[in-house]
Amino acid sequence: MRKLLLALLILVPVGAGIFFTVPTLLDRAMNGVANPAPYPASDKAEQLHQRLFVADLHDDALLWQRDLLERHDYGHSDLPRLLEGHVGLQVFSTVTKTPRGINYESNPSDTDNITVLAMAQRWPRETWSSLLARALYQADKLKQAAAASDGKLVLIHNRGELARYLEDWQRDPQRLATVLATEGLQPIEGKLENIDRLYDAGFRIAGLTHFFDNEVGGSAHGLDKGGLTPLGRQVITRLEEKRMLVDLAHASKPLIDDVLAMAKRPVLVSHTGVASTCPGPRNLTDDHLQRIAATGGVIGIGYWDAAVCETSVGAIVRAIRYAADKVGVAHVALGSDFNGTITAPFDSTGLAQITEGLQRAGFSDADIAAIMGGNVRDLLLANLPD
Ligand SMILES: [Zn+2]
Repeated sequence: MRKLLLALLILVPVGAGIFFTVPTLLDRAMNGVANPAPYPASDKAEQLHQRLFVADLHDDALLWQRDLLERHDYGHSDLPRLLEGHVGLQVFSTVTKTPRGINYESNPSDTDNITVLAMAQRWPRETWSSLLARALYQADKLKQAAAASDGKLVLIHNRGELARYLEDWQRDPQRLATVLATEGLQPIEGKLENIDRLYDAGFRIAGLTHFFDNEVGGSAHGLDKGGLTPLGRQVITRLEEKRMLVDLAHASKPLIDDVLAMAKRPVLVSHTGVASTCPGPRNLTDDHLQRIAATGGVIGIGYWDAAVCETSVGAIVRAIRYAADKVGVAHVALGSDFNGTITAPFDSTGLAQITEGLQRAGFSDADIAAIMGGNVRDLLLANLPD
């Protein structure tokens, strides 16, 4: 542990006079693209894309040592590149604990890589030992970026703020709304009242589990892969009372079943694949697709190989086409997992290529507008707190 920490703190020379810290090198290496920019699309696709309200349900940029307001030549997104991709709303998620030897099949809950990353990135000392502090610190990074953005990055807390933002965006789309999400509820540290802490810090979307089983329920990648715990049931009730949205990404199958049995409000899946186009432990079965859609929720299709079985626009579009045919266009959305240690076909400047892919797949302009962001906008407008 100590050796790893020392290694992370060492500056690595990568050319005459240029040094990167190890976290930045990890960021560069782990958040790659299959092809470098630029990402051209047809005129017909570009013209439609520029008229769309584009929204994406999952981006882990807050984990990394990057200024969101600055343009980078690595990683998948930052404000300048999201705006170049014509994105109007981006959900940013906080990552607080990931198991050592992380894999899709089976992970224990008693190891953690983020502790060393927090130290190496010089996060505040309380984040070294507290998962809640890690979530709050990353939330704070987003708030500080918004405060320094000259109104271009707007953190949304409620329906009124979103409605006002949308009016501003209609006048001038060179701005980005953002909603805060947590990737798993391990930051509540087993205490129901910490839901309120997350809410007060601006969180409005709650993933229940990440790569390991936690106090709330089972992960698709955990050891037991169980359903909701007794605390988990209280958590769902509390989230619904506060009008926070439940996110079933990474949930085990019993956990999805338990939540669907008790949820009274729409649930979403922020970043996932579809098992019928790409089998995998966390990719949704047709039955779950249908039952999640039946709550009025949306399903964000991811861009990485384990979600769609290939790193390509074509594979993303195939999953979208399948889900839309199965449950209706109104329940399908984008869930990139940008900056979530994945390789994507493009960075966020390349999103018109998905619009082009959807045109080729035979979707109407109205359907494309819904999938590319309209569904997420409408879900949030109807279900965020007042
Ligand atoms: Zn994830």
